[in-house]
Amino acid sequence: MRISDARYTRDRLRLDLALRFIQLEARTRTIRVWTGLTDDRIRRLVHSCTTDQGGSDVTRHRGKSPTQTTYFTRSPVLRQEAAILASLCYLLQVVPTGRVADAQRALPGVQRGEALCEAFEIYRRLVPGARIGFEHAVFLVIALARSDELAATLCSDCNGLIVVDRYAVPGRRCACCEASLQGRLPL
Ligand SMILES: [Zn+2]
Repeated sequence: MRISDARYTRDRLRLDLALRFIQLEARTRTIRVWTGLTDDRIRRLVHSCTTDQGGSDVTRHRGKSPTQTTYFTRSPVLRQEAAILASLCYLLQVVPTGRVADAQRALPGVQRGEALCEAFEIYRRLVPGARIGFEHAVFLVIALARSDELAATLCSDCNGLIVVDRYAVPGRRCACCEASLQGRLPL
């Protein structure tokens, strides 16, 4: 492959990923970090998406990206959905198995970004009315790789993967086992 061809292919892959991120309602900063495209090119892409869709708006979120890891553990439903999403991210190698201290810088990239979209799209197909948005999915991936506040571990009863707060009192059961222990119907 000639150098110009290789550069073209790389650029094409970045653009394709950016389009996928836009469709999944990622913020501009997230798209820039994962694709390496400039804000100006991202703005033009958003504009072309809007035009292609007959003028209907692509949903854009403003403000800061999520920063609270407690979001994933604050309710049984979110704990269960975080576990499903995390399992997919490990299976598709979006999250490395070893700890990555500077995950925010080390993880983003086109190949991993594609796998992340894949994991998120499967999660949304598997979970009707999925609650975790794409920006939170990106944050979950980084937090799990950093592994300083959140950790992936196994349910002590069924060995299913669960996402836990590292500083919480150990209650290492998945939402289903917890519900059946308390005589409730699973979620
Ligand atoms: Zn369990």
